[in-house]
Amino acid sequence: AQPDFGFAFDNSYARDLEGFYVDWQGTAAPSPEVICLNLALAEGLGLDAAALTGDAGAQILSGAVAPAGAHPLAMAYAGHQFGGFSPQLGDGRALLLGEVIDKQGRRRDIHLKGSGRTPFSRGGDGKAVLGPVLREYLMGEAMHALGIPTTRALAATATGQSVMREGGPQPGAVLARVADSHLRVGSFQFFAARGEVARTRQLLAYCIARHDPDLAGKPDAALLFLRNVIKRQADLVAQWMGVGFIHGVMNTDNTTISGETIDYGPCAFMDQYDPATVFSSIDRQGRYAYGNQPAVARWNLARLAETLLPLLAEDEEEAIRLATGEIDGFIAQHEAAWLKVMRAKLGLKVPQEGDAALATTFLAAMEGQGADFTNSFRALSSVLRGEERALAAQFTDPQVALDWQTQWQARLAAEGEDAGRAAALDAVNPIYIPRNHLVEAALTAAANGDMQPFEVLHNVLAAPFTAREGLNRFAQPAPEGFGTYRTFC
Ligand code: AMP
Ligand code: MG
Ligand code: MG
Repeated sequence: AQPDFGFAFDNSYARDLEGFYVDWQGTAAPSPEVICLNLALAEGLGLDAAALTGDAGAQILSGAVAPAGAHPLAMAYAGHQFGGFSPQLGDGRALLLGEVIDKQGRRRDIHLKGSGRTPFSRGGDGKAVLGPVLREYLMGEAMHALGIPTTRALAATATGQSVMREGGPQPGAVLARVADSHLRVGSFQFFAARGEVARTRQLLAYCIARHDPDLAGKPDAALLFLRNVIKRQADLVAQWMGVGFIHGVMNTDNTTISGETIDYGPCAFMDQYDPATVFSSIDRQGRYAYGNQPAVARWNLARLAETLLPLLAEDEEEAIRLATGEIDGFIAQHEAAWLKVMRAKLGLKVPQEGDAALATTFLAAMEGQGADFTNSFRALSSVLRGEERALAAQFTDPQVALDWQTQWQARLAAEGEDAGRAAALDAVNPIYIPRNHLVEAALTAAANGDMQPFEVLHNVLAAPFTAREGLNRFAQPAPEGFGTYRTFC
C-alpha cells in the first residue's frame, strides 16, 4: 500500500473553478530521487518527511504518482511577457497537486514545476533543469528568511533524465513548491481577453474568498480587491528594493494576487548599487532593471485593473475612472512602503519630512562609487558602534560617504540617544544575501553531484541578519574576476 504522506488536501481551486484548468498528470521520471527536502516547511504542512524522501515520495514529488486526495491539474492563464500579450500561457511544465491546510490553518498550494508536458506546453518540453530548480529553492528560502513574502520550495527531486537546452544536455529535476496561491494577474487576463465576464466574476469571487474574505458580499468588492492587490504588490516591490533584489521577469503571469514573490528565473541580488542593473540575458532593453521595478509593477496592476473593468461599474467611463484612481494610487502606496523600508534601514524611528530625501541621497551617493548595496547598509551599524570609516570603506571616494554620513548622524541626533539602534539596524540590513558568485558555485557543484556547497550556502542564508564567525566570505561581493553576471532561464 502507498504510505500516507500526510497531505491533508482540500482542493478548492479544482472544486470551485471548473473550466479554469485541465485535469492532468505528471510524466514518470526514469529514476526520481529527492535531493533536497525542506524539513521545516514539510513539518508545518503536517507532512511525513521520512516517507517523502523515500522512493515512493520521489514518485510523488516528481509528479509521476498523485498522492491520496490530490487533484492534479494544469492552470490556465495568460500574460504580458516583456510587454507583449500572450492569450494562452498556462502551466506548460507545472501542475497544481492541490491545496493543503497547514498546521496554522493556512491554505497552501502544493505545486510541481518540471513535471512534464501539459496541454499548455506549446513548443516546450515540460521539463526543468536541476540548476534553475536549485536556484529557485535557494532564492525563495533566502527571501523567506529575509522576511519577504514568497513561494517556498518544499523539495527538489532529480529525475535521472537529461533535458536538452541550448548549452547541451542538462540534468533534469522537479521543484515542489508551496504558495498562498498561484493566482496571478495573468489568471484574470486569460478570461477577460476572451470576453468571458461571467468567468472573470467567478475568479474574482474565488480570489476574494481566498485572499480577501473581508470583502465578500460588499457592493464595491471588485474595487476593494483591486486596491488590496495593489497594496500587496506595492509592499512586495518595496521590500525587493530594500534588499537589492531584481526579479528579472516581471511579466503579468509572474505577478501574484497574493503578493508573494513567484518564479525565480533570472533573478539576482545586486552587488554594487546601480538602479540600471539588469542580470537577465533576455532583458535586453532593461525593462525589468532594478530601478524600473515599481513602474513595472504599476503597469502590471493596470493590466489587472483592465480585466476588472466590467465588474467595477456598469458605466464604462465610470469603471475606467475608478480603475485609474486605484492605479494612480499605486505610486503613493509604493512610496509609503518604500519609505517605511528605508526608514528602518537607516535606523529612523520618528518619521520626519526629509527622510525620503535622506534615503535618496544615500543611494545617489553610492552610485558610481562601487559601493556594495548590502554592505553599505550593513556598515551603518558599524559606524554607530564607533567604526567611523566602515561606510567610507565601501566607496571609491571615501569623502562622498563621509559627507552623507554627517547628514545622517545629524538626523539621528535629532531623535536622541538610542542604545538599541545598531542592533535594530542589523535586524533589517542583512549581512548574508545570495551572492551571485556563491550561488553559481553552489549550482555548478550540485550539477557535478556535490550538494555540499549548496547546503552550506542554504544554511548561511537561513539566518541572514546574524553575523557569525568564519562566514566572512559569504558577506563579500563577487571577486573582480567574476565579471559581468548574466542569468538565463
Ligand atoms: P516562466 O517564464 O517560467 O514564467 O514561464 C512562462 C510560460 O512558459 C509558462 O506558461 C510556462 O508554463 C511556460 N514554460 C516555460 N518553460 C517551459 C517548458 N520547458 N516547457 C513547457 N512550457 C514552459
Ligand atoms: Mg511563470
Ligand atoms: Mg517559470
